[in-house]
Amino acid sequence: MLANLLDYDLEGLAAFCERLGEKRFRATQLFRWIHQKGAADFEAMTDLARSLRDKLRDVAEIRMPVVNSEQRSSDGTIKWLFDVGGGDAVETVFIPESDRGTLCISSQAGCAVGCRFCSTGHQGFSRNLTSGEIVGQLWFAERFLRVFLGRSDRVISNVVMMGMGEPLQNYSALVPAMRVMLDDHGYGLSRRRLTVSTSGVVPMMERLGRDCPVALAVSLHAPTDALRDNLVPLNRKYPLHELLQTCVAYLPHAPRDFITFEYCMIDGVNDQVSQAQELVALLRQSGNGSNWCKLNLIPFNPFPASGLKGSSARRIAAFARVLIDAGIVTTVRKTRGDDIAAACGQLAGDVRDRTGVAGRIAQQRTIMLTPVAMDAPAHKEG
Ligand code: SAH
Ligand code: SF4
Repeated sequence: MLANLLDYDLEGLAAFCERLGEKRFRATQLFRWIHQKGAADFEAMTDLARSLRDKLRDVAEIRMPVVNSEQRSSDGTIKWLFDVGGGDAVETVFIPESDRGTLCISSQAGCAVGCRFCSTGHQGFSRNLTSGEIVGQLWFAERFLRVFLGRSDRVISNVVMMGMGEPLQNYSALVPAMRVMLDDHGYGLSRRRLTVSTSGVVPMMERLGRDCPVALAVSLHAPTDALRDNLVPLNRKYPLHELLQTCVAYLPHAPRDFITFEYCMIDGVNDQVSQAQELVALLRQSGNGSNWCKLNLIPFNPFPASGLKGSSARRIAAFARVLIDAGIVTTVRKTRGDDIAAACGQLAGDVRDRTGVAGRIAQQRTIMLTPVAMDAPAHKEG
């Protein structure tokens, strides 16, 4: 089988070139052709000796991701479905803003964590993506967008690992892929513009800090273990106090001096003022004050199988007010691409569940989450 050169970071490509009897610096040339110029064909690499191009053709390829479909939202968001073989397909989303272009990348076909409020989680898990399949999403999108938008400069300035899958449960493929994204000979992203979002795989968060520190977003969603156990099943393995300690320990490695917490606002489940107060207390206890983290409130994006509803704008505002008054920087995420189901947690791709996770969630759905006591004013707002 031919080696897929998208699988290698620069170090890996240098080792590959050495095995072919080539000097390491050839790897840099090759790497730049692939990632900066978007070349998929060795013939195009005119400054490489013909003998090397011939050799490469015999043993290697640049295996592009196969696009199944593309959808464009009225707000400029674009979503691609990539066929990754074996009946699995994953989604990637480009989100244009005035000052940046963000690509939301998938790390797995499906996800084994099985969060109640996430469409990917409901699908179950098929397999980890390879490094080449992870970086291939960026390779494709950057190449496509330059042509589509008629630009020669870089279009994608930010990457968030917030597509399908739990990136830290695919660590060994994730790290080389991110090294390609960070490399100046690759995509040259700064560490602050590359974000890993995790549901809280504690040991891998520790390793990430040492191996490849990038911006970290942690999906919190609840102020207590009882509720988080229910929403994010991984909490039973890595409960809140461990998770928050690990976040604090990540800070010295973090490219920004804060950690972002994502908190998906679900009607009547985790959106009460009293829960915001509990959250403030929890964050204060763990991090010596309140300015070591930011809260990003995500309006829940509904999908039929979840049986859950999004919080009202007023309830989100009331929740945010408690956090802001406590000195915690808080933002409410704008939902993008909802006309093409490209918003957070709506990515479903097409996954063969090989684990039974999907079935287990489906059964759990019959057990309702214990409704929390309603705060009086918020209750009236509905
Ligand atoms: N597995 C990682 C990254 C992918 S999910 C993680 O969980 O962090 C990216 C973000 O979308 C997470 O914060 C996740 O909690 C959030 N999310 C999942 N389902 C959602 C939904 N239906 N509405 C809003 N946000 C959702
Ligand atoms: Fe997996 Fe993240 Fe979805 Fe949870 S929210 S099921 S960890 S993709």
